Order: sequence, then structure tokens, then C-alpha cells
Amino acid sequence: MTKINAVGVIGAGIMGNGIAQSCAMVGIPVLMLDINEAAVQKGIAKIVNSLDRLVKNHTLSVAEKDAAIALITGTTDINALKSVDLVIEAATENQALKIKLLQDVDGVIGENVILATNTSSISITKLAAATKRADKVIGMHFFNPVPLMELVELIRGLQTSDATHAKVEEFAQRLNKSPITVRNNPGFVVNRILCPMINEAIFVLSEGLATAEAIDIGMKLGCKHPIGPLALADMIGLDTLLAVMEVLYDGFNDSKYRPAPLLKEMVAAGYMGRKSGRGFFTYP
Ligand code: NAD
Repeated sequence: MTKINAVGVIGAGIMGNGIAQSCAMVGIPVLMLDINEAAVQKGIAKIVNSLDRLVKNHTLSVAEKDAAIALITGTTDINALKSVDLVIEAATENQALKIKLLQDVDGVIGENVILATNTSSISITKLAAATKRADKVIGMHFFNPVPLMELVELIRGLQTSDATHAKVEEFAQRLNKSPITVRNNPGFVVNRILCPMINEAIFVLSEGLATAEAIDIGMKLGCKHPIGPLALADMIGLDTLLAVMEVLYDGFNDSKYRPAPLLKEMVAAGYMGRKSGRGFFTYP
């Protein structure tokens, strides 16, 4: 298999723009695709903002920032992905949407190109089976905010080949990430543990046991968590968190994974967390 010289990222949202930034920061050209120009430009603006912060903190020089920005190209045309060696899908957490997207991309990219998905919970085996390159499909689950978080969970579907896994593992290391490999299962490993904990914090809030502030202080000071569970829910996006809980609940058929009704209610209201300006906290 050839070396990865160019990457396509599908989705310019929270994760897509973070993944694109992480690739560009190690000198890899990236094509970032979203459904319309406004979404692409929003993603690029987030990257510029994030790089500016790194310059302010003296983590990056202005020249390094400019070099990274020059490596990122936005597009709304799926055919532009023809030229890349690896595609990382980071679109909305919805199985039907991801299957359609992966099938569309499958028809565009070269036969040796690996199709990675950043899904938080959806079965890699199922997504792979929907394509004509099941052995080249793998879960590459980054963490938020991508440029700062070291972990990448690599999820092998039943069909994922050793060669695909080895190549993606090496690629994750090139991004200065520390990959762990896990077997396909609803929610994989980290979200299987993390999301029910956040969901429980939402139950605690809805039962009126404490305020959102008190719950978060409790977990920060009592458990040394760097961020409280409700602030973390807002950072993840409440729609994404709900989608993960639904996959866990359906996948295990176990009531311990039922999404908190308050989480459902907030998503129905359009309160998605940081990205919509309001979640358990507000973001003016
Ligand atoms: P987001 O809502 O911020 O962004 C999703 C983006 O996908 C949007 O810009 C949307 O326009 C775009 N999109 C939707 N349909 C598309 C299509 N057909 N073609 C191209 N783009 C399309 O969501 P996010 O938080 O970035 O999540 C993206 C993926 O990453 C999800 O699978 C999610 O589960 C996963 N993930 C999220 C987090 C997190 O903390 N938010 C962490 C790890 C993994």
C-alpha cells in the first residue's frame, strides 16, 4: 500500500475541522468536505481561530500557522476526493446518513484508498458491509478537541484487514497521537464507559439533586476530572451524545443505557450545547 500523502475529511464540524487541522499541522494536505459552502467556511474559520490561539500561546510560529492553513482546501464536491489516499468520515452521527455517504465516497475514490470513520458508536462491521471495500474500512475515533487530545481509538470491524489496521495505526502516530486498538462493539471502549456516566449526570440534574454547576464541581474536585460531565456534554454536542446513548441502548438491549429524558427534551428544543450556544450552560 502507498504512503498517505493527502487526506480527505468529510464533515467540517467540531471533529472534521479538528482532524483537518491535526493533519495540516504535521504537513499533510487535506481536503475538507461539507454539504454547503457556509459549513465549509465555518470549519475553516474554526481552524484559523484554533491556530491563532496556538500562536498566542507560543506553541506555533506565525509561519507554521500559515503553512498549515495553506494545506487545507475546502470543498462541497465529493468528486474532489478522487485525489486523496485516505478518507476520514466525520459527518453527523446517523447510521443511514453515514452508509449513504460511505457508499457515495466508495464509488469515487481509488480502489486502494482506506475509508476510516470517526463514528462515536455505530458498528464498523455494518458500515464496512455497506461498501465494496469492507477490508479497507476501519474506525478511527478521535477525541474532542482533536488537536489537543492524544488518543485515537482504532476500531476493527470483522472485515478490517491487518494491512488496513497497520497503515492507519502508523498514520495516527504520524499525527502525534497514541492509538489503542479495540474490537467492534456498540460505543467501542471509551464512549461505552464515558457516555453512560454523562447520561447519569443528566439524570441527577433532572431529579433535582443538585444544580448543573454543583454536579460539575463535584466531579472535578471529587474525581479529578478536568471538566465536569455536563460541560463535557455541551462540548460533545447533545445531539451526538443522544445518538451514542441510542446506539448503546439498541445495541445491548439493556435499560442501563436508556437516554435521560431531559437529554432527549433538550435535543428536541434545539439546545445542542456549545455549538448552538445553549446546553446545560450558555455560551454567548
Ligand atoms: P457536528 O454536528 O459538529 O458536524 C457534523 C458535520 O457533518 C456538519 O458540518 C454537517 O454539515 C456535516 N455533514 C452532514 N451530512 C454531510 C454530508 N452528507 N456530507 C458532508 N458533510 C456532512 O458533529 P461532530 O461533533 O463533528 O461529529 C462528527 C462525527 O464525529 C460524528 O460521527 C460523531 O459521533 C463523531 N465524534 C464526535 C465527537 C464529539 O465530541 N463531538 C467526538 C468523537 C467523535
